[in-house]
Amino acid sequence: MDTRAAVGRGNESPPSVRELNRSRVIEALRQLGVASRADVARHTGLSRTTISGLVAEMRDEGLVVDRPDPANGSPASGAGRPPTPIGLSPQAGAALGIDFGKRHLAVVVADLSHTLLAEDRREMEEGYDSALGMDTAAELVEEVLGRADVPPAQLLGVGLGLPGPIHGPSGQVGSSAILPGWVGLHVAREMEDRLDLPVHVDNDANLGALAELFWGAGRGASELVYLKVATGIGAGLVVRGRLFHGAGGTAGEIGHLTIDEHGPLCRCGNRGCLETFAAGDALVELLRSSLGHELTAEEIVEQAIEGDVACRRAIADAGRHLGHAVGAVCNLLNPSLVVVGGSIGQAGDLLLGEMREAVRRRAVLSAAQDVEIVAGVLGERAEVLGAVALVLGDAEVTPVPEAVST
Ligand SMILES: [Zn+2]
Repeated sequence: MDTRAAVGRGNESPPSVRELNRSRVIEALRQLGVASRADVARHTGLSRTTISGLVAEMRDEGLVVDRPDPANGSPASGAGRPPTPIGLSPQAGAALGIDFGKRHLAVVVADLSHTLLAEDRREMEEGYDSALGMDTAAELVEEVLGRADVPPAQLLGVGLGLPGPIHGPSGQVGSSAILPGWVGLHVAREMEDRLDLPVHVDNDANLGALAELFWGAGRGASELVYLKVATGIGAGLVVRGRLFHGAGGTAGEIGHLTIDEHGPLCRCGNRGCLETFAAGDALVELLRSSLGHELTAEEIVEQAIEGDVACRRAIADAGRHLGHAVGAVCNLLNPSLVVVGGSIGQAGDLLLGEMREAVRRRAVLSAAQDVEIVAGVLGERAEVLGAVALVLGDAEVTPVPEAVST
């Protein structure tokens, strides 16, 4: 991101090793949230002794505080006193996440130790107008900040997710978006005008990848593919621990991989894309013609889990098609982990079992052996949490502790 280049531009003299190490500890804590000193040492590559010294100094300043780990409630093994996890002080800043979906809008605010302070979600009418969506988001932001008692000055930035390809830093929405009325909009700029805060935009699958990497099933993974299977199908690609966007932001459009070139016409203009076989809308359409009445994608998943044979078959076939596409991705990227989220992803092993089988058949042996295919653990909140992670992980703003500011 271009904010990265600006960091340190104000400093005429080069930063000392100690200052650089401090920045690395801060960056590690922003990514890890609550962590042990050993985790911070591993993440930064610095020695335990260096970490202990820096953490002691930063605790004295009030920048780092002791935190119980909300994500890891497991008691420490053995009788010894567990090391106290640490995190950045809540006063050091907060991040906002906004997620625009096809029929919903979600907003969360979290502090730098990754503690969620408040969240809200609103159902929207399908095809809602972009101005209405952004105005409503701005209202929700105000409510959520009020509830969390976070003054806007404490916010480091806003992460924003949209179901479609995003081009460039202005967040211009690309053409195969699920929100057709939003195509061509510079969403980051529009929201910056409304919120008066820096806004970073990415597509929903990328944000799901980031959230599962920060908080979910992908913690600590270096090569990860997050597959969002919902109304549409998208993938977030993580390479060397970072999101991979490609040249213009279109990387990960796995939903438009060709499964059958003579297949049904897709919304992207091609034929037989993965989406036309395995996305929520395709399953709804498939079962409407065979059952004679319409089920939502969520109902199809529920009924499949309850044992309905038609719904089970539809989910299994979707899993097989997804596996073919994922097998190709395994050959290209050799990920260690594929995390499956989205409403259809909720079908769990009914979907994943077929996927694993198809990947085994499609991918080269070594790539298939290296990959584990698991369900996402963050459910419908993955994207909005990923929007927060976008700010925590990428925005280069050094937090200023209350105790030090004058
Ligand atoms: Zn397509």
